[in-house]
Amino acid sequence: MTEDRTAEVAGRLRVDPRVLAVLVAAPWRAADGHDTGPVAEPAGERGTVYVGVPSPAELRELDLPADGLRHFGLTPADLRRGGWTDADLRSAGLLPPGATPEPVAWFVAGEPPQLMLGFAPAGPVLLARPEPRWDGHLPVLDPADAVEVPVLPGCDDPDGDAGLAVRQVRDGLLRRARRRLTHCVICLRPVHRAATTHGACHGCAGTWLGFVF
Ligand SMILES: [Zn+2]
Repeated sequence: MTEDRTAEVAGRLRVDPRVLAVLVAAPWRAADGHDTGPVAEPAGERGTVYVGVPSPAELRELDLPADGLRHFGLTPADLRRGGWTDADLRSAGLLPPGATPEPVAWFVAGEPPQLMLGFAPAGPVLLARPEPRWDGHLPVLDPADAVEVPVLPGCDDPDGDAGLAVRQVRDGLLRRARRRLTHCVICLRPVHRAATTHGACHGCAGTWLGFVF
């Protein structure tokens, strides 16, 4: 549950772990309630090019957004009929016809959790603040106020424009997250207000108040 996944997160972002720590936070672990398996590498090289239909690489060259193909009035089904593979579609940020969207892989940092970082299968990296919630008897973290941070991947200078933009997003989310923190009335550790029972953290509510979760 608390396995350190920082190296994996940094590798996926192509950011040095030390830079990642300064830019956003560290260490990172999988967020409760998100079955965050190893993050897959981005979709591989695209396949066949068809005349008249821009390839994912051409879209990037044109600086069109990930879903830029919608501007051409082409649906994923049209493109597949035109010879695009599912990998091509995914690398262009489009969902192959009939496919179900893959969940965002969410990681969390802070004790208690104060920042979430999400990898959408196709799309920009996300930062969010965690919002605790009970899913039956399991505490889970929902991402709230998610912000796209397309400048984070590959960022190598915390003090450059991209780095400052990331840190600005991070600081705004942290301010909002910290306004939602309080102290457990028993062990006095900081705890998310939404994760308390009669003012106590889950551990103390179980140990001292007789709550069974
Ligand atoms: Zn406590």
